[in-house]
Amino acid sequence: MDGLRVIIGPMFSGKTTELLRVLRKYAIAGYRVVLVKPSTDTRYSSSKVVSHDGLEMDALVVEPTIDGLKKVHNILLDHDIIGIDEYQFFNYSKELIRFLLDLSNDKLVIVAALNLDFRGEPWEVVKEILPYADDIKVLRAVCTHVGRDGRRCGRPAVRTQRLLDGRPAPYNSPRVLIGGRESYEARCRKHHEVPK
Ligand code: ADP
Ligand code: MG
Repeated sequence: MDGLRVIIGPMFSGKTTELLRVLRKYAIAGYRVVLVKPSTDTRYSSSKVVSHDGLEMDALVVEPTIDGLKKVHNILLDHDIIGIDEYQFFNYSKELIRFLLDLSNDKLVIVAALNLDFRGEPWEVVKEILPYADDIKVLRAVCTHVGRDGRRCGRPAVRTQRLLDGRPAPYNSPRVLIGGRESYEARCRKHHEVPK
């Protein structure tokens, strides 16, 4: 098994669920499966990947840099399928992309990442790996914006809305702010707001 698969979408679109589903499938088939997560993601658990629905799997926690990946290189080489959750948190370097592509020459590497940050701008590390993907799965969530009539929008959500005290976070708010339902919502294009 080899190649590179990318799962992208906004928060709550089911990226982690999909990644865990595929990894479980291969684990049952007898492949040696390893799941990696950046140490940045401390939501729910520090040593497991946990979906918003509570599905979980043990993870190898790494510092989100090329050096962090190099430290676990031998462990990665010992597996057939390598899943990486929250891939957007890795610091971009050409070397990091090269490292993952080299692994994908004889292993199946599956990365799950946010399509865009809360501002609606791409993550460099995601942008740089996409053209190499053998398969890209784009997921969407449900827009949970509530209109003046009190109804939820319900359109497919392609963006991640950050909220600070219930209001859209301004453009100059920090790019990475770890949070869940209390600070993020899935939104369609029309209801994604980033005050400048
Ligand atoms: P991701 O990794 O993309 O953030 P998860 O796989 O962890 O997503 O969780 C997906 C789950 O989140 C869905 O199955 C659903 O139960 C829940 N969920 C919460 N809010 C939403 C939303 N606005 N749209 C779709 N699913 C949502
Ligand atoms: Mg996730």
